[in-house]
Amino acid sequence: MLSYRHSFHAGNHADVLKHTVLSLIITALKEKEKPFFYLDTHAGAGRYQLSGEHAERTGEYLEGISRIWQQPDAPELLQPYFDAIRALNRSGTLRYYPGSPLIARHLLREDDKLQLTELHSSDYPLLRNEFSKDDRARVDRADGYQQLKSKLPPPSRRGLVLIDPPYEMKSDYQAVVKGIQEGHKRFGTGVFALWYPVVLRQQIKHMLRDLEATGIRNILQIELAARPDSDQRGMTASGMIVINPPWKLAQQMNTLLPWLHQKLVPAGTGHYAVNQIVPE
Ligand code: SAM
Repeated sequence: MLSYRHSFHAGNHADVLKHTVLSLIITALKEKEKPFFYLDTHAGAGRYQLSGEHAERTGEYLEGISRIWQQPDAPELLQPYFDAIRALNRSGTLRYYPGSPLIARHLLREDDKLQLTELHSSDYPLLRNEFSKDDRARVDRADGYQQLKSKLPPPSRRGLVLIDPPYEMKSDYQAVVKGIQEGHKRFGTGVFALWYPVVLRQQIKHMLRDLEATGIRNILQIELAARPDSDQRGMTASGMIVINPPWKLAQQMNTLLPWLHQKLVPAGTGHYAVNQIVPE
């Protein structure tokens, strides 16, 4: 039984980090004319109503996207991400937040392709409806990890894979590494982006140790923490692991993170970092 619903968390500081990195990778892939493939293994519902019961109950977006949206000094690098949000909020009031599939939909070109998978019985139909008129996209109710075997390599031989599980089950920390290993074996030149939450730092250390043991090269880690590591319940930080990152990504995130951290965490607690954890 899947109980996680992203609608409770949409637009929080972890989404801001994830979707900023996602938009920068897509923007970099568009620098070449050749079309590419976007695989979103854990796609969610696609669109989230911020005034809805779920988002209002936690109010997480108020400490996330609300803090940076429409800031006059927002760095130019955030524009592709903000453009995707603006496309859902034409009036200028932030009512809807786009999940990763809608950010990709907004930024991808006519000849690029999307493959989206979502297992949840309530979120899958919402996602399918979002894309019912988009010929570029295929939406399946299927296991995201399985896609890393069955959908790679893509015919275009260019692509980005986003792996964004809920980590509801402890086994996700191992499943993501195994999935990446399977995907990378088939599509070694692809860009793989894995999101992770820091709830217990030890879990992330183990996951990274397992990832490094696969022998995969060229791995970048990007992290933003709202609070210091803790052994109490709750997410203190989140990060993105990017395999084969676009060459400018590290530098772009080094530019963005001080601004993002200052705006998202006005108390100044936590930290941010960009590290090449495995060289090319
Ligand atoms: N990627 C989305 C975004 O950024 O907007 C958010 C995804 S949310 C963190 C994780 C999603 O994975 C949930 O909607 C959950 O129902 C779904 N899910 C859980 N296990 C899955 C699996 N094995 N395969 C596909 N989807 C799964």
